[in-house]
Amino acid sequence: MNEAARIGILGGTLDPIHFGHLDTALAAREALALDSVIIVPARIPPHRTEQPLASPFHRFAMAALAVNGVEGLSASDIELSSPGPSYTADTLERMRSSLGLAASQIFFITGADAFADIETWKRYPQVLDLAEFVAVSRPGVPVAALRRQLPALKPRMRLPLRRSDLQTRGERTSIFLVDAPTLDVSSTEIRRRLLAGLPLNGLVPPAIEHHIQQHGLYGRQPLTPSTADHLHGQN
Ligand code: ATP
Ligand code: MG
Repeated sequence: MNEAARIGILGGTLDPIHFGHLDTALAAREALALDSVIIVPARIPPHRTEQPLASPFHRFAMAALAVNGVEGLSASDIELSSPGPSYTADTLERMRSSLGLAASQIFFITGADAFADIETWKRYPQVLDLAEFVAVSRPGVPVAALRRQLPALKPRMRLPLRRSDLQTRGERTSIFLVDAPTLDVSSTEIRRRLLAGLPLNGLVPPAIEHHIQQHGLYGRQPLTPSTADHLHGQN
C-alpha cells in the first residue's frame, strides 16, 4: 500500500452497528485526515461477560450494509476468519502485515468509554505501540476525562488541533483525543427498544433496520426452529 496511507480501524461488538459508530468513524477520519476507516466486527468480544445476541455473520452483514455507499468507510471480516476471542493486538498485527503498513499509518479508533478500559486489554501496554490510537468522545463522556483516568498515558495523549499535530513525532505512537458530536445511542439501547417492540426512530441506517426485521434479530419473537423449518418447506 501507498507509503503515505493513513488507515483507521473501528472495532467493536457492533451488536448491532448504529449511527453513533458511523459518526465516530467519520469524526476520526476528519480529525486525523485518514484515507479511509475500516469497520471490524469482533467474532468473540473478550471484554464482555454476555456474548452478542446476533451471530458474527449477521453483525458483519450489518456492518457491510451500513458502509454501503459511504465514501471512506469499508468493513472487514478479519476477526471473523480467526478462531477464538478477537484481541485488538492480534488484529492490528494481522492488519498491518496484510496491508503492509507501519504503526504510524494505522489509527485504532475507540469511543472514550472503551479506551478508559485499555489497561485490561491483552498485551497492554505494548498494544499501544502497534498503532496510533484515537479516542473519540461519546455523549456524556468527554475525552478530557481520560487524562485523569489514565495518568500513566498522559504524556502520549494529544489533541489533533493543527495540521502539524497530525504527524507522528519521534518513535512512539500517540493517543489522539478527539471531541466530536456523535449520536447519543448505544447498541444496548437499540436491543432494549427492539425487545420492547419500540421503533428505532433513525438510530440505525434503514438497511440495518430492514435486516434486523427480515431476519428476526433481537426481537421478542425470533424465528423458532419449527417456524424456520416450515418456511423452508421442510415440515
Ligand atoms: P453496547 O451497548 O453493546 O456496549 P455500543 O453502542 O457501546 O454497544 P460497541 O460495539 O460496544 O457499541 O462499541 C464499539 C466502539 O464504538 C467502542 O469503541 C465504543 O466506545 C464506540 N462507540 C459506540 N457508540 C458510540 C457513540 N455514540 N459515540 C462515540 N463512540 C461510540
Ligand atoms: Mg460498548
